[in-house]
Parts: sequence; C-alpha cells; structure tokens
Amino acid sequence: MHILVTNDDGVLAPGILVLAQAMRSLGKVSVLAPDHNWSASGHVKTLHRPLRVKEVLLADGTLALASDGAPSDCVALAVLGLLPDPIDLVISGINPNGNFGYDVTYSGTVTAAMEASIWGLPAMAVSLETPENHQGEVDYSVAASIALKIAMKIMSSAEIPARLLLNVNVPCLPETEIKGWRVTRMGLRIYRDELVRRLDPRGRPYYWIGGDAPTGIPDEGTDIGAIEKGYVSITPLQLDLTAHALIPTLQSWDWINE
Ligand code: MN
Repeated sequence: MHILVTNDDGVLAPGILVLAQAMRSLGKVSVLAPDHNWSASGHVKTLHRPLRVKEVLLADGTLALASDGAPSDCVALAVLGLLPDPIDLVISGINPNGNFGYDVTYSGTVTAAMEASIWGLPAMAVSLETPENHQGEVDYSVAASIALKIAMKIMSSAEIPARLLLNVNVPCLPETEIKGWRVTRMGLRIYRDELVRRLDPRGRPYYWIGGDAPTGIPDEGTDIGAIEKGYVSITPLQLDLTAHALIPTLQSWDWINE
C-alpha cells in the first residue's frame, strides 16, 4: 500500500506531519506538498512555468518532497511519474480550518484530492474545524486518527467505488466527545466577504477581499450540520458538476430562432 500525503498549507505545516505519521501504520507514505501556503488557491494546473521539486526534512526527521507548484500540481507530479511506485490512495490535509459547502471550490486541500480523482485514484481531504477564537497550538492527533480509520475503511472495502472522493471534516473535540460519523451532503456556506478599497502610497486604489469568516446553515444531513452537532462529516464529492435538474428546462428552450 502506497499513500501519497499532500496539503495546501505547505510541506512544513504541522497538520501534514501528524497525518503522514498516522498513515505510516497503513503502508508506505510519500509526502509531496507545496513549499508554501496555497490555502484558497482552488484547482490549479501550472502550465506556463517549470515546476521545481526539492527534498526537505520534516520535523520528525523523515524525508519529504516540496514543490513550488500548487497542491493539485503536487498530486499531478506524483501520479505522472515523479514517484516511481504506483499510488493507491491520496490524502490531503490536515487543514486547520473546515471546508464546507462551496468552500470545496476554493480549497487547496480539497482540490488536491480532486486532482487525484481526475487520475482515477481514491482520495480524501481532511480538515479540522478549529474554532475562530482557538488559542495556542492546534492538536491534529484526533483528526489524524480518524483519517487513518477512514483510510483503512476505504482500503479494506471489497470494491472501492471508482473515483471515490471524500471531503472529511472533523470537529475540534477530544476523541471521547466526538459523537460519531455522519455521511453528509454539502451545506450552504454564508460568505461575509467585504471589498476593502484603499490607496497605495502613489495614490492609486487597490482592493482587498476582507470581511468576517464565513458562517453556514447547519441543516440536518449537511456537513455544516454534522460538525455543529459534534460529528465527523464525510461528504462524497464528484467532479461532474452537471445540473441535471436544469437539462429538461434548457432542452425545452428554442435555441435556434433567437
Ligand atoms: Mn489550508
């Protein structure tokens, strides 16, 4: 079993180290992650500049690879042959903040897993919903042990569903206080972004997308609802974004005579 571990916070972020350490009990682990933070970078394919890869040592003394590409580039590099051994599972994380609802389209953590799905590999993104007012170091150990259990579940299943792509969110609770696991759908995020316009030292305007952190609607059955109640949320995703419900309506429009 060969597991590729990546993230979007950078190869030296604490979450990826704890995740890689946990996964070693399941098989061979390769770490290939960005050399800096790509949070909220979306699904990237770097085509107009070369990608560089260098060896780095993680805090536990193990060897990892760092690339100047995006999280999704890291997965592509690994799958396309940078790593000689075939990959069985891709795990991205552990992100220090939850990825709920439409966050999945922004998230580097999730889009790394999406890239794996494009190449036909089972993948999961793992995020810890650290509260906004959290003080001190983040403890990733519970999320890592849950990620390991989910990985074991996937790899021991009789038949892994094609392009299995899971978005896993873990509440920031001691393991004994986690109520259980819920398979969920994407909830509705409420973004509170505000456009901030300021002037640079030469008097020209620049813009910054500011505002408060997003909230969300904790509907029953959703990722946001599960986390709010203290459950691990496991949302199966797919890259086919077709709005099937709109196909009959659009087919009924007269497209020729307009
Ligand atoms: Mn991140």
